[in-house]
Amino acid sequence: MDGTLLGRLAALPARLFGAREARCALCGLILARTSGAEAPGPFGLCPACAAALAPRRGGFCPDCGQLHAWEESPPHLCGDCLADHKPWQTFLFWGAYDGVLAELIKAFKFRSGLAHTALLSGLAAAAFRRHAQVWPDLVAPVPLHPSRLAWRGYNQSLELARGLSRELGRPLAAEALARLRPTRPQASLKRARRLTNLKGAFAARAEHAAGRHVLLVDDVMTTGATLVECCRALTEAGARGVDVLVLARA
Ligand SMILES: [Zn+2]
Ligand SMILES: [Zn+2]
Repeated sequence: MDGTLLGRLAALPARLFGAREARCALCGLILARTSGAEAPGPFGLCPACAAALAPRRGGFCPDCGQLHAWEESPPHLCGDCLADHKPWQTFLFWGAYDGVLAELIKAFKFRSGLAHTALLSGLAAAAFRRHAQVWPDLVAPVPLHPSRLAWRGYNQSLELARGLSRELGRPLAAEALARLRPTRPQASLKRARRLTNLKGAFAARAEHAAGRHVLLVDDVMTTGATLVECCRALTEAGARGVDVLVLARA
């Protein structure tokens, strides 16, 4: 009856007065329970987008997420982590910094990307639930230096931590860490400068960290130097434990 005039007229009020169709959160494809339309997948995505955003299941280092050549190989420690343990307890991530996930994160760095906060927070929460061993006392973002925050107007790690704290029902501690001085992006530096670039760049506040298990959150991990320094600062301030969660591993 849908094609008839009566059918179209019957559907009109719903169209006019906002009975919205469910759409894929990413590509906008109409998702419906009726035949012919796609059924909603995880995170309100269509099956194609859900497949493009599937988590990394193997072929990575469980301590730092370093990606090995074969995704099919079981998780195993990389050479760096075998030689020197990371200062955190558990490392959690969703996938490689690649494809759709990388596009989403790049968009998320700018205000226009805030539309995807719910989706990315959902992925972060799912990454947490996959491998977390300890429920955190608080969720803390990697901070931006105030000068950089003023320039960009927005800290994507804070927005991600805020969404994640809501998803997990654990308190957000936006001020647990402070960036004491601006630092150059690690990727732009030679190895010798990288080692000194972040020394003493972060401080943690004991009133937040002391005696607490902290879930430290960032959007992407590249060298990991920032997360190592933040983790050290939290431990020096008396944190009982620190886990690290990032959306993507570069
Ligand atoms: Zn889609
Ligand atoms: Zn590793």
